[in-house]
Amino acid sequence: MLNFAFTEEQEEFRKVLKDFTKSELLPTYMEWDRKGIFPGRLWKKMGEIGLTGLRIPAKYGGSEVDCVTTGIAAEEIGRGNFSMTAAVSSNALIGEIITKHASEEMKSKWLPPFASGEKIIGIAITEPGSGSDAAGLKTKAERRGDSYIISGEKSGITLATVADAFIVFAKTDPELGSRGVSAFLIESDRIGFDKKGYEDVGNIPTGRGSLYLDRVEIPKENLLGEEGKGFYQVMNGFDFSRFLLGLQALGSAYQTIEETIEHVKTRESFGKPLVRNQGVSFPIVEHYTQMELVRWQCYRGLWMRDQGMTHTAEAAMCKWLGPKVSREAIQDCLLLNGHYAYTKEMPIEQRLRDVMGMEIGDGTAQIQKIVIGKKLFGKEFKL
Ligand SMILES: Cc1cc2nc3c(=O)[nH]c(=O)nc-3n(C[C@H](O)[C@H](O)[C@H](O)COP(=O)(O)OP(=O)(O)OC[C@H]3O[C@@H](n4cnc5c(N)ncnc54)[C@H](O)[C@@H]3O)c2cc1C
Repeated sequence: MLNFAFTEEQEEFRKVLKDFTKSELLPTYMEWDRKGIFPGRLWKKMGEIGLTGLRIPAKYGGSEVDCVTTGIAAEEIGRGNFSMTAAVSSNALIGEIITKHASEEMKSKWLPPFASGEKIIGIAITEPGSGSDAAGLKTKAERRGDSYIISGEKSGITLATVADAFIVFAKTDPELGSRGVSAFLIESDRIGFDKKGYEDVGNIPTGRGSLYLDRVEIPKENLLGEEGKGFYQVMNGFDFSRFLLGLQALGSAYQTIEETIEHVKTRESFGKPLVRNQGVSFPIVEHYTQMELVRWQCYRGLWMRDQGMTHTAEAAMCKWLGPKVSREAIQDCLLLNGHYAYTKEMPIEQRLRDVMGMEIGDGTAQIQKIVIGKKLFGKEFKL
């Protein structure tokens, strides 16, 4: 039986989020960007309605919803404030990693405050010398008695300036490639831990930046899962978060398209509404068509994950196409709104800046195409 309908609970959840977006996110979206500060109060509010713990079991204070429902949250929050989707997608990814791989003690300690939005955790893989080639990371973790000593530099990390802790990927065996990578939970107030924020193009409130670890000592219990399995843990998580990133970008584009439709119906030029010109209406129709196709591939992929099916290539497709078609739609909408949309009085330029970041974060289009190519051509013809 083929069924594309959301459940009643999912529709109800979407309605709650639409109200939240309308009352809390849309009116303040530009304010946080202009002030350049992290909206801690908003993050906590999102925690109160369960958005920061969507994939965390109820016994640790999470909402324990399925992947499709998490996708609905990414899309609806993306409509209101693209930067705040980190509370949904990054938390869903990190929530799954900790739930699946941390010890019982670590789960009890970290999951409840993380799920409620009181504590913030980031994820740190990228380094100055390795981004796309993530397995080439150089951060080292040495076992010494009951501790690990960790040294290295991480770059490009979302929430770098605000998070209480990070899942840090480091080599426990530098001789090995991806098989030498392990994952650790490291508190940002440990001795030897430092950070520096960037002046970013978009997503300014999320405090992206670099982390510096100079012989940071952590207890061995902070290792997540087994030594050498870190890379595979996170890659499985990316197969999930890539759908969410696609949907959050689309949410931002849907909001922009709807606002633009309103504009072109009401603004007149040469004695008729703008929309009556096919040069104006066709781009909107074309972008909307592409967005609908990618949106349904995102939900299909999330459904596949809920069914326990393999969905690596599907996730990669949604990751490269979702932010791209969204950015293109937003850019054309900016033009269709005329000169005023080129000012900072309207949110369209900010959406363009914010969504563009997701064409890089979590892996660029080229890297997603390599992943899809593996399925199409086989491992022996690795691109
Ligand atoms: C908004 C944002 C948020 C981010 N958040 C995080 C985070 O929270 N945690 C984290 O760890 N990282 C984060 N990153 C970093 C991000 O994951 C990396 O920037 C990304 O993986 C690309 O790495 P790089 O910047 O080093 O580019 P490089 O790897 O140097 O690539 C440069 C260019 O070359 C291309 N390229 C590289 N290799 C190949 C190849 N084999 N074939 C074809 N093309 C290739 C790339 O596609 C890219 O266009 C974030 C980045 C952004 C922009």
